[in-house]
Formats: sequence, C-alpha cells, structure tokens
Amino acid sequence: MIDLRSDTVTLPDEAMREAAADAEVGDDVYGEDPTVNELERRMAEILGMEASLFVPSGTMGNQIAARVHTERGEEVLCERESHIYKWEVAGLAQHAEVQPRTIEGDDSGGITPEQVRDHYVAEDLHRPGTGLLTLENTHNSNGGTVISPEEMAATAAAAHDLDVPVHLDGARLFNAAAALECSAADLVEPVDTVMCCLSKGLGAPVGSMLSGPETFVEQARRVRKLLGGGMRQAGLIAAPGLCALENRHRLADDHERASRLAAGLDELEGLSVAEPETNIVLVETDVPATTFLDRCEREGILGVPFDDHVVRFCTHWDVDDEAVETAIEAVASVV
Ligand SMILES: *Cc1c(COP(=O)(O)O)cnc(C)c1O
Repeated sequence: MIDLRSDTVTLPDEAMREAAADAEVGDDVYGEDPTVNELERRMAEILGMEASLFVPSGTMGNQIAARVHTERGEEVLCERESHIYKWEVAGLAQHAEVQPRTIEGDDSGGITPEQVRDHYVAEDLHRPGTGLLTLENTHNSNGGTVISPEEMAATAAAAHDLDVPVHLDGARLFNAAAALECSAADLVEPVDTVMCCLSKGLGAPVGSMLSGPETFVEQARRVRKLLGGGMRQAGLIAAPGLCALENRHRLADDHERASRLAAGLDELEGLSVAEPETNIVLVETDVPATTFLDRCEREGILGVPFDDHVVRFCTHWDVDDEAVETAIEAVASVV
C-alpha cells in the first residue's frame, strides 16, 4: 500500500525510537521532564517566541489558544474552511464558548485586512465583540496553500489595530516556510500565538507545540491541565519531537514529490489537478470521489475524499520518488 491519505501516517524512524528509549524523563506536570523542557525551549527558539508548550495534539493546541485569548460569548473570526472551525468538533463552542464568524478566504486561504475590518464587531449591549482572529498557514482544505509573510503581516496588523489578537494554526507552518523559502520565525513574527504539529510532515509519532508570550503559555499550561492534557514522563514522546524538528529541511522533498505526483495525475483522463504549493495534492475526479478512491485502493493507493468530486493525496517522508511513480501508474490503470 502507498498511503497518501495524510502526512500524519508517517512511522517514527530508528533515530526517533532510539531517542525515545534513551530519553531522560521526569514528571512534566511538575515541570521536571528535562526532555520536554528542552523541546519547549528549542521550539520557542526556532520561532523567535518567548515560550512554548508541548500538547498532545494540534486540536488541543488550537483550542487552548482560543480559550486563553477570548472571553466567553465573544466572536472569533476564522476562515470558512479552516481546521479550527470545521474539523475540531465545534471546540470553539464547547471549550472557549465563543461564536465563530466565518470569512471566505482568498486564493491562498488567507483573510485580507479589509475582511478583518468588515467582519470586526465592537462589543455593545447587543453584540458579542470580536475576541480573536485565527489564520491557517498552510491552509489544509485549500490544498496546502501558503500565505506570504507580507499578507500575514498586513492582516495581523489590521486585527491589532482593532485590539484583536491573532492566533495562527500552523499545523504545517514549516511546510509554508519551506515553500516560501523564509524562516518560520519570519512567518510568525506578526502573530501573537502559533500552534505547530510535530506529528505531520516532520514525522514525530505524537505531539504539537503551542507558542507565544510567556504569560500566554503560563495560562495555556493551566488550560492544558483542565482539558486533561497534563502528561507525566512525556519525555518519551518529546524526544522524537526533538528529532522531528531537525527534519525541517526534508519538507522541500515532499513538496517536489507532490509536484511530480500532481503533474503525472493531471495528464490522466478524467482527472484535473492544480499545481500544489506544498505537500497536499487535490485531485478533481470525473467519477464520485469515493468510487475513485475504492478503485485506487484496489490498486494499492490510499487517499481521502475531500468533497464529492475532490480527493486529497498527501506526500510525506514514507513516500519516496519510486512510490510517486508507482502511484501515478496505479492511478493510470484506475482511470
Ligand atoms: C491536522 C491539523 C490540525 C490538528 O492536528 P491534530 O494533531 O490532528 O489534532 C489543526 N490544523 C490543521 C490545519 C491541521 O491540518
């Protein structure tokens, strides 16, 4: 099987397994796990932020951020197809008790400064008030598209002018940085807080990081405990996370393979594929997506349905050049 469903399916390599086995550990709820502390320090350093918190998942990281940034009953501005709004089980309503106000993003899945100003709501007797703006880079549902540092900065500035903080869902922040050939620190400079996944293209088995100012991370640590995310000898899973951070340079290879896959599939009858910006390939299919995927599976290729006639294939480090060629041939036999 060539598993192109997601970049979360990567298996930890030998270096990660050894790092886990050898990790120095302690009770992280007491702040005593040296490996977790090192991972948090390293992440903050890479992002140029004050502090960072290790969380079990990206979803928890995003939801903690929404909870810490907002007051109950406020509104959160988010992109219409954003993960934090669409794929997190209404966490904004359930944990932060806020009301999302969605905005249809531009081609890159970004939100323009004008849209921020247009959708901003000032608090009064009748209206909730805008408590947070979220952005997503790369944008998953949009096909891994990247928002440039300039656009990020302009949009964040529009929010800050209105006293609205900005949280970035950077599940694939390092993919964005690789595609834009800039540093992740440059990309997050204009936002207040950011969540990044270690368990996607970077290959760690578990974990995400929530980063921002020290006072924010202190509060986030408390909310993590509230949600049941306080972990004990978590160094065992933080150690592979530290290895994962050193894999950032490998993401460009995933992007190249995605390009190759997209070009190969686009030549096939009945499929239409746009040039991917990162590691996510969205394929428009003539036949229903589920029918197409059933046929692909019989040929040893896995993907996920993204819409009635859209399928997502994701490249990741368990998919090498040869696997890409095999996948193209297999799909060719399907169509
Ligand atoms: C995967 C993903 C998340 C959530 O991460 P989990 O670790 O699966 O909870 C959040 N945002 C985006 C854009 C994602 O792709």
